[in-house]
Amino acid sequence: SLFRAARFEISIARPQDLPPSMGAEIAFAGRSNAGKSSAINTLVGHTRLAFVSKTPGRTQLINIFRMNNGAALVDLPGYGYAKVPEAIRKQWVKLLEEYLTRRDSLIGLILIMDSRHPLTPLDQQMLGWFAPTGRPIHVLLTKSDKLTRGPAMQTLAKVRKDLAAWGPNISVQLFSSLKKSGVEEVEKVVGGWLGT
Ligand code: GDP
Repeated sequence: SLFRAARFEISIARPQDLPPSMGAEIAFAGRSNAGKSSAINTLVGHTRLAFVSKTPGRTQLINIFRMNNGAALVDLPGYGYAKVPEAIRKQWVKLLEEYLTRRDSLIGLILIMDSRHPLTPLDQQMLGWFAPTGRPIHVLLTKSDKLTRGPAMQTLAKVRKDLAAWGPNISVQLFSSLKKSGVEEVEKVVGGWLGT
């Protein structure tokens, strides 16, 4: 499958340290604690690939993984982490803006949101930067196992409706790393982006 056997390639401190071209890139972004590391680990099918740990104040790195088909999976630092000093948080948001608005090889964005707290102001900020590129965005509503079916479906419908305002190229699904549910749907979407 698409993500399985993705291999860790490099960690870098800043987007400007990225190699100018490393093939097509798919980026994963999300609010800190939304479940991004868990989702990446679930997709690639093994643990400890993206570290599920957070140390306050520690430099957050961009982790690059190489997928089977040659495309790069770019794990961006989580945003909005409350314990990081304001100045550093601002700096990170600025770097995310530069990467999302200017990176030519970035062909699509996976945006991770906690299904219980979707579309926070910072999530909307990310949409505001990337949606105008016209490139596709796929939202994973994670931790869907924490909602029962009715509320999960209601959340999905509500978020889908809200996302429509950002353009036609935005899709959304439920996802659970705990239940490993939603994996095939993500693979199908990203496979479509990569033409595989
Ligand atoms: P990140 O900061 O976005 O990388 O978030 P993590 O992947 O580190 O997850 C944050 C917390 O949410 C951890 O305690 C995870 O165990 C938990 N978590 C992540 N995904 C899920 C999920 O699908 N279901 C449940 N129940 N918990 C999850």
